[in-house]
Amino acid sequence: MEECIFCAIARGEMKAAIVHEDEEVVAFKDIEPQAPVHILIIPKRHIAGLAEMTPEDEAVVGRIAGLSRKLAERFSFSQCGFRLVANSGPDAGQAVAHLHFHLLGGRKFRWPPG
Ligand code: AMP
Ligand code: ZN
Repeated sequence: MEECIFCAIARGEMKAAIVHEDEEVVAFKDIEPQAPVHILIIPKRHIAGLAEMTPEDEAVVGRIAGLSRKLAERFSFSQCGFRLVANSGPDAGQAVAHLHFHLLGGRKFRWPPG
């Protein structure tokens, strides 16, 4: 857990382009953007992923959903559309074992994602 890069970003020990921070969550730009706006929203507290969540973690996920709406307004795609995605486990391609939601906007997205 000491080597978790998203914990390091949450503690301010690793550089990131932070767009929002409060006592429970941090949002920062993804280093490999898949859309004109690609932001990662994480809980500051280490949670390995959706599959490892406990009932106590549910409130912070609600907070992340609410923040995604505010950021969508700030980045001007709340009405035209955006996507909030969390990959869980190897089949979904989760690469960082710290719960994170991708907020993607600024282009059209296909469904199903493949
Ligand atoms: P996932 O595949 O859902 O685990 O997504 C991990 C995401 O984290 C990828 O989109 C990476 O580009 C992104 N990422 C990895 N390291 C960093 C970092 N130091 N700063 C910002 N984004 C990162
Ligand atoms: Zn972590």
